[in-house]
Parts: sequence; C-alpha cells; structure tokens
Amino acid sequence: MTYASAQLLMSGSIVSVPLKTTLKDAVVIEEVDKPEFETAEIVSVSDRSYSKEQMDIAKFISEYYFSSLGEAISLFIPYHVGEDPRVLPSDETKVQVSSLAQGRTLGSSPTVAELVEAPKLTQAQQNAYEQLLKKDRALLFGVTGSGKTEIFITLFAKMLEEGKTSIFLMPEISLTPQMEKRLKVYFGESVAMWHSKLTKKKKESILKGIEEGEIRIVAGARSALFVPLSDLGLIVVDEEHDDSYKAMTRPRYHARDVAVLMGSKLGAKVVLASATPSISSYYKYDVVKLAHAFVQTEKKYQFISGDSINHTMLHALHTHYKAGDQSLLFLPTRGNFKYLYCESCGKTHLCPYCSVGMALHRKYKHLKCHYCNFTEAIADTCTQCGYSPLKSERMGTVEAIEVISEAVEGIQVEQFDKDSITTAKKLKEALKRFETGESNLLLGTQMLSKGHDYANITLSVIMGLDYILGLADYRARERAISLLFQIAGRSGRAKEAEVIVQTGDPEFFQTYLADYELFIKDELAFLEMADYPPFASLARILVAHKDESKAGKITLDTVTKLKAFKEIEIVGSGKAPVERIANKFRFNILLRAKNRVPLLKALHSVDCREIEIDFDPVEFS
Ligand SMILES: [Zn+2]
Ligand SMILES: [Zn+2]
Repeated sequence: MTYASAQLLMSGSIVSVPLKTTLKDAVVIEEVDKPEFETAEIVSVSDRSYSKEQMDIAKFISEYYFSSLGEAISLFIPYHVGEDPRVLPSDETKVQVSSLAQGRTLGSSPTVAELVEAPKLTQAQQNAYEQLLKKDRALLFGVTGSGKTEIFITLFAKMLEEGKTSIFLMPEISLTPQMEKRLKVYFGESVAMWHSKLTKKKKESILKGIEEGEIRIVAGARSALFVPLSDLGLIVVDEEHDDSYKAMTRPRYHARDVAVLMGSKLGAKVVLASATPSISSYYKYDVVKLAHAFVQTEKKYQFISGDSINHTMLHALHTHYKAGDQSLLFLPTRGNFKYLYCESCGKTHLCPYCSVGMALHRKYKHLKCHYCNFTEAIADTCTQCGYSPLKSERMGTVEAIEVISEAVEGIQVEQFDKDSITTAKKLKEALKRFETGESNLLLGTQMLSKGHDYANITLSVIMGLDYILGLADYRARERAISLLFQIAGRSGRAKEAEVIVQTGDPEFFQTYLADYELFIKDELAFLEMADYPPFASLARILVAHKDESKAGKITLDTVTKLKAFKEIEIVGSGKAPVERIANKFRFNILLRAKNRVPLLKALHSVDCREIEIDFDPVEFS
C-alpha cells in the first residue's frame, strides 16, 4: 500500500497509518514516486525501526520460504531509534549504540577482562577453538561430553573482549535452565535468555539491557535469532541437527540456515555444533572435529526385540534404582496408548476429524487426537463391527510410568513430555527434582534427547526407534540413529553405563555405534545415488481443504502448471500420509530439482493463495 509523508522516512520505519476506519501499525518498505491516485497521510512515526539488514533478511525469508513480507518482518524485533526516527538505519545507529555500550562497559562496571575468566581448555579443545577462530563458518563435530560448551564460552568471551555481541541458539527452551546456570557463572548480567515463553515485562527488560549495551550475549531458542543486537560478532547454533530449528508454520524458515545467511550479511562468524551433525551441514561446511570425550567411559549396549516394556527393561531399571543410580527412558508416544484397534475387523479407532488414531489418556478419562486436540469419552466397542473390547497399541509415556511404578517398588518417575512440561516453571521444577535425586527415572519423548547433562545416569532405555525408521521420510535413518546417539549420550557422563535399545533391526544400529561419521559417509553415498538433499533441493506443497474434491482439484491444477518447468521434477503428488486433519482433506506434492533456483522460480509462478509451500521440508506427514 502507498501512503504519503511530508518527512523523509527510511525503509524499516514503523509508522501508524489509517486503514478503513482504524489506525494500523505498518512498516515503510520503500520510497516511490507520487502515484496518480490519492494517498492518505502517515499519521505518526514510532521510535522503533527495523534496520536495513533486518529488512534484507526478512525479504530473503519471505521469498525463499514463501511467506508474505509482513510475516517475515514480524519475526524480528525492531531497534530503538530514539527521538528522531529519521536518523536511521543501521550504520549510524549502530555506531551510536556501540559507542554507548563500550563507554558503559569500561566505565562504572568492571572491564570485560576482569569480569570473565574463560574456562581452561584441554589441548584438543584449544586446537578446535583456534581452528574455529580462523573460519567464517564451520561445523564443530564433537561427541557428547567432549566439551563443546567450554569452547563456546571461550568464543563468547573473545567477542566481549572485541566489543562484539553474540547469539547462542539452542533447539528448545527445555535446554535453557541448565545452560543459563553455566553461562551466568562466566558472564553474569551480560547474558540473557530469550524464548517465546518469556513474559512481556521480562522481554522489555532484556531489550532495555540490550539497548544500553549491558546484555551482550543472547541465548535461547529460535526466536533469539531476531533480537536487535548491535555489532554482532558470532552466532553459535548448538545441536544444529535438531529439526525443531525448522518452523512448522509460516514463515517456514530453518533457523540454522537463516543464521548462516545472517552471519554473511552482518559479517558475523557462525559456528554450528553437534555430536550428530546433520548430513547436509557436514556436507556443506568446514568440519572441525573434537574427537575425544572429556571423560572416557564405557557403554554397554544391549539390543532387544518387542514393542512394549518387558522383563529385561524392568530388571535393569530395578538394578540401577537399587544401586542408587539414575535412568532415562525414551519412547516417542505420549499418553497411555497411541491407538485403539479392533481385533475382529482390524480397524483403528479414528478421530472423526482427522485420519489418525485417537490416543488413550486414562488419567483424563478420554481419548485425544494429537493432531486437532479433539477429545471424546473412552470407547470400548468397535464403531465398524460392534466388537468389544478394543485392543490398545503403541505404549505411551503415561502407560510406561504406570507399568514401571508397579513393577519397581519405590522408584520415582519424572514424566518429561509436552503433556507434563507445559510451562518454563514446570520444566525447571522437573529438572531440579531429577538433579537433586528426588526422582530416579526421567521418562519422556523427544524432549529428553536435547542436551541435558546428568552425571548420575547409568542406564538409558530407548524404545520406538523402529517407528521412526519406518517413517516415509528420506531422513528416517538419520533421524533414528541420531536419536539413539543423543539419548545414549545422556548417560555415562561419570560412570560406566548401560544402554538398552529395542529394535527389530539391530544390525543397522550396531554398524555405526562406534562411529557416527561412518554413518554420515555411507548415507551421503546413498543420498547422492538417490538424488536427495544435499545433492538436490526439495520442496513440498500442501493443500488442505474442507471439500475433498476441491483439494484434489487444486493439487491437480498446480501439478499441471508445474509440469511446464522442465528443470524440476514432480516426485509424487496425491493424498498426504495423514489424509485429514481438523476436518480438512490434505494433499501434497513433492518437488525436486538439482538446483534451488529453478525450483524457487517455478514455485513463485504458481498461485500461492490456496496452497502452502514448504521449502527444504523436514516433515512429510
Ligand atoms: Zn471391528
Ligand atoms: Zn483430530
């Protein structure tokens, strides 16, 4: 939309404009010649503004990830520009903010060098640190327990010394309490944790600290990437393999990839890190290895078959509990059971609005759909043939806790999943109970795999890997084996540990147990042959509509249009694996091209109003 302004406004300025009968906040995109039609006046100009770099990156995000520019800009938090909003954007503002910041650091508070005593690095850590210093972007590949965090801390300290700021990304807020403690030891009030669950007041106080130059390191989940820091020198993306860096709603950006782009736009160093790096990052970036674990401990693996809690697991849990040690149990399902099904006709009891099974939650005396959250009373009769009782399948966290609590007398189990950890407070409390030894077993879903460090864990039990291996996803093997490494890596930090893995395909996992890099190399060879990323670009189009035939028609029309583009391949199209969610019928189209540019070009030519485009998708359900 076009508005008039008597004063000169820079791109990125936040203004208030009349729209129909109300006033709306808007962002100035560019100056244009006075048009033929009549234009309304901008009413007022805010004291906050987006920098040129923020506008550029937002533009990239909207074009690459197929969102509106407004949706992309909304990710960012604008800079405070003070009294005169015309004095803008980045260069001048940045100089002002940075000189203010340095004045403060060197003034009343102690100098940076006095405040921070960097950790003492081992020779291996020191070597890795020095290699990272030489590179603009690199992947730090270090086994769990090899001391990657000490290297990050040394890098942050170095940035402080140089008067620069840093961003430290973690895949999930569940990681922040432990990391916050470690960072505060070194950086005190110079570090702030940032995530979506912060209160408005807390956010404002952090933004004030950033603006005044007191907060120089911002750590947190995805959204921490978009805080208005000046003089950014470093972005660290820890656990870079984690899929939660990819946003599942528009803009469907990947925070790791945006971090790399941001680094090159702002001249900041980017360090990606993981014990199980993504195959694409391993392929794309310089790898700095940190091979040896800090503490060398043995792990004893045992592979067992089956799909529910059995005697071997219970026996091991009992033994470790009696010895005063702690255990971890992973399974990918929440609630009591994932499905109810009829043994007579074989039908699964489905959500009436989605084509997925209703999960059994006995505590709430209901069945719940994990896709649309619809709940209903627990059914015990088949709606198809009237047979009773229904059989439950694929055990979830709650059922596992019930079974274990009954079998191992006295054991205190901590439920660690989306159903139980609903707030930052509950998370802190659960972690604390486990840390102090009040609970003996941490039992949960994916949330468990994300970098929690506990010295006392001597047993990890991993269930449900076969379910992940069986997903219709070209990264199914990578996801399963990375999960195994991540969960197993949580144990044996201090003592010898035991790992029990439930799978029908032990050979696959055994081949790579000692060497994750070997897996990456084998998988790269496979992906190259099969023509999947990182050797090709993928995009997924999702169509969802209440009217099934309409959804099918949109899909068909889109496929017809895309067929005109010779450089792209339509890998498949039709009903999505989950055919219906929240009463909308779902269709999808999977597209592939050797290079991303023709793929982007083709997708920008189709009508985006009735479809959703997911570029570089990580989810295929
Ligand atoms: Zn039946
Ligand atoms: Zn549903």
